[in-house]
Amino acid sequence: MAGGKLQAPRGTFDVLPEDGRRRSALRNACAELFGAAGYGPVETPIFESTDLFARGVGETTDIVQKEMFTFEDQGGASLTLRPEGTAGVCRAYLEHGMHKLPQPVKLWYWGPFFRHERPQAGRYRQFTQVGIEAIGSDEPTLDAEAILLLAELLANAGAQGVRLRLSSLGTPATRRDYSDELRKYLHGREAELSQEVRSRIDANPLRAFDSDHPGTQAVMRDAPKLLDRLAPEDAEHFAAVRALLDDADQEYDIDPALVRGLDYYTRTVFEFTSDALGAQSGVGGGGRYDGLVEQLGGPPTPGVGWAAGIERILMVSEVEAGAENPDVYVAQEGQADSRMAFRLVRDLRSRGVSAQMEQAGRSLKGQLKHADRIGARSVLIVGDGVLHVRDMRTGDQRDAASADEAMGIVEELTA
Ligand code: AMP
Repeated sequence: MAGGKLQAPRGTFDVLPEDGRRRSALRNACAELFGAAGYGPVETPIFESTDLFARGVGETTDIVQKEMFTFEDQGGASLTLRPEGTAGVCRAYLEHGMHKLPQPVKLWYWGPFFRHERPQAGRYRQFTQVGIEAIGSDEPTLDAEAILLLAELLANAGAQGVRLRLSSLGTPATRRDYSDELRKYLHGREAELSQEVRSRIDANPLRAFDSDHPGTQAVMRDAPKLLDRLAPEDAEHFAAVRALLDDADQEYDIDPALVRGLDYYTRTVFEFTSDALGAQSGVGGGGRYDGLVEQLGGPPTPGVGWAAGIERILMVSEVEAGAENPDVYVAQEGQADSRMAFRLVRDLRSRGVSAQMEQAGRSLKGQLKHADRIGARSVLIVGDGVLHVRDMRTGDQRDAASADEAMGIVEELTA
């Protein structure tokens, strides 16, 4: 191992300050938007028992079959770095008895997620998702609210080329009947399907809609559609969600082939895409998962939510967060003055003034140049028993008889 060049692992990246500031700005916008709609922040562990994802995401999904970072801890327990957020949030909902709170319980999260995928632009092995979950009610207003919150987040971020695709998957019973119908149809045209789709006809025929294999796509164009098989109460639910979106002037395309990658969705499913992204056009998506909490061992509990990729939102948007220019730069004429400078910087900060000081041994001339480069509004020069404040806009310099007076001048220039 000695001598090798150390690099971040494949599919991961470092967030440097410029990018970090954009991410912080986006996160603050999320906290404000979701807080105003009654969603409280929640954090769950980044690793969970592997079983949670097997039960909560679905044994037949790509995520569980191919993409999980799974490992054994020293006691032999199988753990997995979380590939998505909903299963963990629902586990926490149950574990903390949140089903006994007034419903729905509305939560939002932000954090790292992990999938062992082939890295490419916009697709990483560690990425960041923001998401919301509203658990404990099947009201269509929650579906519409969830969709509109993501639409608003993307609009506020200035995301380009955004489209919303919408569909309904009905209830598990409808889906089972429909799946049988689809299986029969697919078996009837097996020869035209891709090897992968063929191998999954029995386990998960719906996934055939996701295929990018041309032969499969042609078969799927003529396939029976789930939207035409919805039970009356599900069709009504879907109509109610659409009416709320229409009232809000939210545009969408009904896409009967929309199949989310996870098994637990019921009724509403949706996805926001952006033309500004390449092949990986999904910005965020989600839907209703009325069977999930029960599948995890809880009482029957409806829920709806979504997750969106922070890296992808930032790729298609214009969230700006420039470096902050300090109000004052405290310069020193000699090394001996650094204790005084250090005290002044702390005093200034406690008064709400953003202050930096010389910390690299530059000459006074070098310090003034540096203060100019970082855009300091003023420079407080600590000298041999004397203090000066220079206005960096005009170049005027004033003497101060005391630290208090010097700080007063700085505040005056900052105001
Ligand atoms: P999903 O949980 O698959 O519906 O993903 C929700 C969103 O997370 C997607 O629309 C992407 O924006 C983002 N996302 C999913 N997987 C990745 C990945 N491997 N790299 C970057 N972003 C991702």
